[in-house]
This record gives sequence, C-alpha cells and structure tokens, in this order.
Amino acid sequence: MIDHPRIPLAGVIGSPVAHSRSPRLHMHWLHRYGIPGHYIPMDVAQNDLREILAALPKAGFVGVNVTIPHKETVLALADVVTDRAALIGAANTLIFRKDGRIHADNTDGYGFIANLRQNASDWNPTSGPAAVVGAGGAARAVVASLIEVGTPEIRLVNRTRARAEALRQEFGAKIIVHDWVQAGNMLEGCATVVNASSLGMEGKPEFRVPLDALPKGAVVTDLVYTPLRTRLLEEAADIGCKTVDGLGMLIHQAAPAFERWFGTRPDVDQATRDAVLRT
Ligand code: NAP
Repeated sequence: MIDHPRIPLAGVIGSPVAHSRSPRLHMHWLHRYGIPGHYIPMDVAQNDLREILAALPKAGFVGVNVTIPHKETVLALADVVTDRAALIGAANTLIFRKDGRIHADNTDGYGFIANLRQNASDWNPTSGPAAVVGAGGAARAVVASLIEVGTPEIRLVNRTRARAEALRQEFGAKIIVHDWVQAGNMLEGCATVVNASSLGMEGKPEFRVPLDALPKGAVVTDLVYTPLRTRLLEEAADIGCKTVDGLGMLIHQAAPAFERWFGTRPDVDQATRDAVLRT
C-alpha cells in the first residue's frame, strides 16, 4: 500500500510505438504546466496486454493512450466503455480510475472536429455532403463524428469495398458507398473531403484522385500527418480549397485525455505544434 503522493505517469501502448509523437506532445504539456509527470512509449505484444494493463495502475499510471494494434482489443479489457468508443468499435484512451476500474474512451472523432473548427473557422459541416476515403478505425471515428455534427450525407470509398459497406450497415442511410475507381466522381458538391486512409503517408502509395469536381469552397483535410503537407492537401490548395493537416487532429484528440489524467486542460496552439514537430 502506497501512502504518499506519486508522480503521475501516462503513456502510449502499441506495437510498434517508436514512431509515436504522443510522448513529445504530452511531455511538452507536462513541462508547460509544471506538472511533475511522465509520458512513456510502451511496446506491448498482444499476449501481454491484459497483464500489463492490470499492472500499470499499481506503478502509478493514471491512464494510457492505445494505438495499433490494440485499439479494438482493449474494449474487452475495460470495465467501462463510453458510448462513442462502443460506436466506433475502438478506444484510443484509457483512464485508470481510483476505484480500480478501467474506463475506455475514443477521442479521435472529437479531435477531428476540433481541428477543423480551429483551422477552418468558416467550415460548416451541415452545408453539404462529406466525402470520406477509408474504412478503418480512423474512418469510423470520422464518420461517427460527422453524423453527430449534422453532415447530411457521407460519401464513402474504400479500397476494400466490403469494409465501406459494413460501415453503411452500422451507421445507416446517410452513408453512400461509392466505387474505389470512381472516387473523383463523389466530390461534386461536397463541403468536406477527408482522407482517413493511410494513402499518402510516408512509405505508402500516393492518394491520387482528380479534384476537378470539387467546389472551391470545400474544406479538405488529411488524417495523415507524415508528411504534414500531403499531395491531396497541396492539390486541393492549388484549386483554391481551404486545407487542414492531420497534426491538429493528433493534438486535439490528446487534450481531453491529458485533462482527465493530469487535471489541466492544455492549450492547442502554435507552441504545441512546434513542440511536436521538433526533431
Ligand atoms: P487502419 O484501420 O489500418 O485502416 C487503414 C485504411 O487505409 C483502410 O481503409 C485501408 O483500406 C486503407 N489503405 C491502406 N493501404 C492502402 C492502399 N495501399 N491503397 C488503398 N487504401 C489503403 O488505420 P487507421 O487507424 O484507420 O488509420 C488510417 C490513417 O489515419 C493512418 O495514416 C493513420 O496514421 C491516420 N490517423 C491519424 C490520426 C490523427 O490524429 N491525425 C488519428 C488516427 C489515424 P483497406 O480496408 O482496403 O485495407
């Protein structure tokens, strides 16, 4: 039994995690707000997940972020799952409560919307359809949050069409699944375009879709943030669209977790971005 105050610890659990920018982000906020905590990357194999999650609170951990490949698995290991995490089918944030229970949440959808609201202040998600590329975990969070903010129609494409169809089954008739090879056609009249696939990421093929049909007033965002300016964002900016990179989403999704763990709501500003980008 520990009877003195401990240094609060948090971290990210995944495999691999060496590439994660979350340690830089949370350590920046900890220093900035004078909180004597630490945030640690932890490479954890699937077989060890249950044991590690049970042990971490005993070592002073107040919670963890969860990344690939554990985002879905942790739902079954949590005692409380928020509605949005259940809807998305994945958690990115765990809170170790004082009563010993593990609380699982998903803040990706919040981060996605907050990033657009901060960096495209004129964005109106209700003013027209959204086009979403991808049907993985991130796309599920994007689709759920777009529905929540009142987007009237979501046009969805994915390389594996069956995964997009599965999203339609789950999220309902606002989702219209389009053909992968005709992705450009779905852009006509769209207010929002989102790349929620890993295309365009360093080491992955480029995302190549003709943007001719896209209205100039559309807001285009990419969840990929390595590189920061993806080909999609460059091409959209060239035709006069407002573009928003994915780094803001990464930072915004982290803010509510930091607040729950360490008790301070952190600012999301240029200094935060600079800290994350610093090599
Ligand atoms: P995921 O569950 O593994 O899904 C990957 C998605 O990308 C699937 O739709 C997959 O299509 C598609 N894809 C992968 N390789 C492809 C290729 N060569 N051609 C066409 N489609 C391809 O991953 P995720 O968690 O959804 O993440 C997706 C992206 O979002 C990643 O780049 C991730 O880093 C980024 N992300 C960013 C943030 C942020 O805060 N900015 C948060 C979460 C994720 P199939 O279904 O056909 O395989």
